[in-house]
Amino acid sequence: MSECLFCKIARKEIPAAVVYEDDTLLVFKDIFPQAPVHLLIIPKAHCAGLADLTPETAAAAARIPALAAQLAQEQGVAEGGWRLISNCGPDAGQVVFHLHFHLVGGKPLGRVCR
Ligand code: AMP
Ligand code: ZN
Repeated sequence: MSECLFCKIARKEIPAAVVYEDDTLLVFKDIFPQAPVHLLIIPKAHCAGLADLTPETAAAAARIPALAAQLAQEQGVAEGGWRLISNCGPDAGQVVFHLHFHLVGGKPLGRVCR
């Protein structure tokens, strides 16, 4: 998807504060953080969201919970607690249509996800 913002970040055409990268996943800091730790975890391959998984993006996404737990440790929020969220569709407030998971922590997060 040549015009997709997060595809451009994955291809390094747009700068981002990358904190983790491997063959299929990229993690970078959210540009408008909602918590002291606010990372975005994306599969490098494009799909619009959880309703549009392909075999490739499903395989990459299956690794995200374990990676999130590792990152929570590294970011110092494992003990206090953290949340992993993927917004899907308009009622969830999804604005970037490349699958991503928000990893947020570092403060009390309340009952609502975002
Ligand atoms: P959503 O689609 O609502 O789940 O959230 C998209 C997220 O992407 C928002 O939290 C934005 O702050 C974030 N975002 C948008 N553009 C960038 C960017 N260039 N770099 C990092 N984060 C971004
Ligand atoms: Zn994309």
